[in-house]
Amino acid sequence: MARKLKCDDCGEIQHVLFDGYAFGDRMLEGVMFEARLEGEDDFAVVFAPGNEHYTKKLNTEYWLSEAKTHAAELDIAQCPKCNDDVVMPGFESDDDEDGEDDDGKA
Ligand SMILES: [Zn+2]
Repeated sequence: MARKLKCDDCGEIQHVLFDGYAFGDRMLEGVMFEARLEGEDDFAVVFAPGNEHYTKKLNTEYWLSEAKTHAAELDIAQCPKCNDDVVMPGFESDDDEDGEDDDGKA
């Protein structure tokens, strides 16, 4: 079963947003990253647009690598369309009470 990024309100979305604060502390507070699924378990991560003036000063290679590691462990991220919480694939099935289109009752 292919994993997808899905917002309750917007349906399938191409990427999710998350704040760098969780792994970059103050240095990345308020700096948003975009993560999109690449294959089954991997994420491609980029800086979300809007912070270039700041992010270009960072060690972007290092922080994108950190962000990618963090993305793989995220359970909740943010929808880029409505800014609501998005449950990341792999975290939604445990006690999913209204997963009509998810017949995996493992
Ligand atoms: Zn949404």
